[in-house]
Amino acid sequence: MPKHLVLVGGGHVHLTALLCLRDYLQAGHRATLIGPAPYHYYSGMGPGLLSGIYRPAEVRFHVRKMAEDRGAAFLEDRVVRVDPARRTLSLASGGEVRYDAVSFNTGSEVPADLLDPSAGDVYPVKPIENLLEARRKIRDAPGGKRLRAVVVGGGTAGVEIAANLGRLGRESGRIAGITLVSRSTILEDYPAKVRAMALRSLDRWGIRWTEQAPVTSVGRGGVRLENGTGLEADMVFLAVGVSPSPLFRDSGLPTGEDGGLLVNECLQSVRHPELFGGGDCVSLEGTPLARVGVYAVRQNRILHRNLLAFLEGRPLGRFDPGGAYLMILNMGDGRGIFRRKEFVWDGPFAFRLKDAIDRRFMRRFQVSGERRESPGGE
Ligand SMILES: Cc1cc2nc3c(=O)[nH]c(=O)nc-3n(C[C@H](O)[C@H](O)[C@H](O)COP(=O)(O)OP(=O)(O)OC[C@H]3O[C@@H](n4cnc5c(N)ncnc54)[C@H](O)[C@@H]3O)c2cc1C
Repeated sequence: MPKHLVLVGGGHVHLTALLCLRDYLQAGHRATLIGPAPYHYYSGMGPGLLSGIYRPAEVRFHVRKMAEDRGAAFLEDRVVRVDPARRTLSLASGGEVRYDAVSFNTGSEVPADLLDPSAGDVYPVKPIENLLEARRKIRDAPGGKRLRAVVVGGGTAGVEIAANLGRLGRESGRIAGITLVSRSTILEDYPAKVRAMALRSLDRWGIRWTEQAPVTSVGRGGVRLENGTGLEADMVFLAVGVSPSPLFRDSGLPTGEDGGLLVNECLQSVRHPELFGGGDCVSLEGTPLARVGVYAVRQNRILHRNLLAFLEGRPLGRFDPGGAYLMILNMGDGRGIFRRKEFVWDGPFAFRLKDAIDRRFMRRFQVSGERRESPGGE
């Protein structure tokens, strides 16, 4: 019996399934991709997109074209509700889509609870398109105005964003000052050596940083700290962590503590076998994983194989999260900070290694003419 597979979100986890869509069609099934935009931006190169190391066309996948070129349908929309009893997905536009199997790759969002209704120029670091918008705002500031930027969040995303703002400021002359505010110590979950290297790098860029300073609200003109002081800003970057979209909780599906779709080791919902998912939007039963793109990438092949096996009634395979992963921070000045377990070093070679790994990943999935396209208004 031909079946309808729906892929919700064309993020990092679905790239292999998108590349191999013909496998589903050749087996007699049909496929639909639903996503809010024709492009998906690769987050690992997002900070470099902000600073101008990368052009937009170098860091995005044309997921709409990937789907349509391979015989699938593309719906530019957002799924807002799942009804497993009727096997339907409700769309933001008001429509409904029926499925036989569905796979979720809806990623995560930056919580907005610090935002005051008066907040003006605030840029959550996800979706990555926000970083492109922020770059344009800085470069196009009227009358060559120099803007003050505050980055809220002292994790890896906050550190990379601050450092790459440093580069953008130096090259454009349009940034008056950058402050990084962290509720705890900066990079508190990382070895002291990583932290020391990152702080030296921020100092080289002239970035002010303040630690143990929880932000209580982000509003018009800047941010307010728990100690009662305020920091004035023309633009605020929010890098305060991520949580899965509320889609699964809102739909009454079994979720992990933070609302991610609860899946078993086959990346299949623990209650509804026709629901699958991967990446930041799921919680793996028994082994909660860090919300990093590395796991999304590691899940690619097994998710594709399992979706096909499910449609064909064959046994599913298990996802192995693998061992420690490599992390390299892009510090904006052609240098990187490398960390794998206790092995830590920094310098130009670390950035070159990250750049090579990221570009290889892009080459694998940029199969829809992205690199031939215009640089996207830059
Ligand atoms: C600045 C920054 C730098 C980072 N650098 C790294 C790094 O170097 N290495 C690393 O491992 N991790 C990194 N991360 C973490 C990484 O971004 C995430 O772990 C990764 O994006 C998860 O991939 P994903 O495909 O699950 O989700 P996403 O990349 O968020 O993709 C989800 C997709 O689903 C779509 N979507 C969302 N909601 C819906 C809906 N309701 N209906 C339909 N479609 C929907 C979105 O438009 C998007 O295309 C970084 C994060 C940030 C913010």
